[in-house]
Amino acid sequence: MLNERYRLCANCQHENGVDANFCLNCGNQLSAADERVRLPHAGSLKLNRPDLELTAAEQSAIDKLLITTATVPNGYQRVGAVFATGSNQGTGGYKRAWEDLIINFWRLCLAEDYAGIANLTIAPTVNGNRVELFGYADGLRAM
Ligand SMILES: [Zn+2]
Repeated sequence: MLNERYRLCANCQHENGVDANFCLNCGNQLSAADERVRLPHAGSLKLNRPDLELTAAEQSAIDKLLITTATVPNGYQRVGAVFATGSNQGTGGYKRAWEDLIINFWRLCLAEDYAGIANLTIAPTVNGNRVELFGYADGLRAM
């Protein structure tokens, strides 16, 4: 997993370089305590699904969700086990099943007010031309 470190200004929320001692936006003093780790989230898994129409608010909410196979990240806590399934029959294969799975995790996170999921594990099943994915993970809330 690729992480990017930065220093978050407590005053104006500007994201500064990890070596910055003062906020580039407002001049607030920064320290190691302001250091944060940027994590990959669902925003990097944008899907082109013509049959999925999202409002701007829905897209924004989804972009903020964190979905990772890594362990529970700093700043988050595990609040429960979650699981979802994805499936596809026909030409889309694993790709469509994966999209279906992630969309179901999105829906679950939004419905449960979760910040995302960690420790995502996926078990695939192939039966003829039907692909099924079963995913389970830890539901997260920000601490
Ligand atoms: Zn600032």
